[in-house]
Amino acid sequence: MTDADFTQPVYHESDADRRYVDDKTVAVLGYGSQGHAHAQNLDDSGVDVVVGLRENSSTRSAVEADGLRVETPVEAASEADVVSVLVPDTVQPSVFEAIEPELDAGDTLQFAHGFNIHYGQIEPPERVDVTMIAPKSPGHLVRRNYEAGQGTPALLAVYQDASGHAKQEALAYADAIGCARAGVVETTFREETETDLFGEQAVLCGGVAELTKAGYETLVDAGYSPEMAYFECMNELKLIVDLMYEGGLGAMWDSVSDTAEYGGLTRGDAVVDDSVRENMEEVLEQVQNGEFATEWVAENQAGRPSYRQRRKAEKNHDIEDVGERLRDLFAWAEQETESESEREP
Ligand code: NAD
Ligand code: MG
Ligand code: MG
Ligand code: MG
Ligand code: MG
Repeated sequence: MTDADFTQPVYHESDADRRYVDDKTVAVLGYGSQGHAHAQNLDDSGVDVVVGLRENSSTRSAVEADGLRVETPVEAASEADVVSVLVPDTVQPSVFEAIEPELDAGDTLQFAHGFNIHYGQIEPPERVDVTMIAPKSPGHLVRRNYEAGQGTPALLAVYQDASGHAKQEALAYADAIGCARAGVVETTFREETETDLFGEQAVLCGGVAELTKAGYETLVDAGYSPEMAYFECMNELKLIVDLMYEGGLGAMWDSVSDTAEYGGLTRGDAVVDDSVRENMEEVLEQVQNGEFATEWVAENQAGRPSYRQRRKAEKNHDIEDVGERLRDLFAWAEQETESESEREP
């Protein structure tokens, strides 16, 4: 497949001009999942990096152990040309408020997710570039792939181009963290943010968790054992998702039995029917009109009362007890296998 087959532009190493970041200082604010990977990959690529963490952050020693400089976010931003904002999304507005005076004309605010810009929680000054390089995997894989000479695909977006070369610089940044080795897909802050929220709410996190619980409860309520219900509705999910990840729906349908395929193809859309699609449209609407964003910002300002309560209820679901006991059995079995294989010559 060539890039011409994609609906969006896809960039590679040959499209990136490293000179757009080579002589710059990048402040990486935060040293968590994404932060540690961006900072170390940039440093290994020869870019000057300074990590920004709070004065009392327990992560400071880890940064120093990795051979990087660490300062406060304000100090780091003041000497940087590019400020990569990799603190948690809910913390970003207050960190931005502190560093805004340090942003010079032509500096760049760089994000890995568009929430705060798209929903106006951060209103960047006109003098700066605002860009996004969002790797499509957790940070430890961004780091691991880079070290293995490979790359992680990423999204690129430009929200504001004050310098006239915001896109070239973002692409150079993507190249320096290894993403251009795999491919950088162009999108917008709006598209990245809204599809990310919709995906995690309707399908990946919310949808799958509810589907799993509904299946489990249906079996248990009908008198089947919780252990069997757990195996059939939760444990086997991983096998199915792995197949879909590797080869799409086709690989999954090919791999399951003909009985499973026929049953799935005839009964699946009876479960996830038109009413589910209507519910999905409603969820998407709340993402698009900002209702979800407003609710989540207010929830955080109130100290997360509803979040805490829902989290607790989810932890207390029966499927979690059964799962814990059954996974213990597997852990024991896996340890046995490992020590057996260690004994082999
Ligand atoms: P994280 O929670 O793993 O790490 C956050 C870091 O910020 C930690 O080092 C923490 O100590 C630091 N921090 C917290 N409050 C701070 C403050 N007030 N001042 C300075 N430092 C502070 O975060 P993450 O998951 O890497 O997310 C960072 C960004 O990357 C987010 O915008 C997120 O949406 C995006 N993103 C994450 C992933 C992922 O897989 N984790 C993938 C793509 C994009
Ligand atoms: Mg500066
Ligand atoms: Mg996502
Ligand atoms: Mg998300
Ligand atoms: Mg089965």
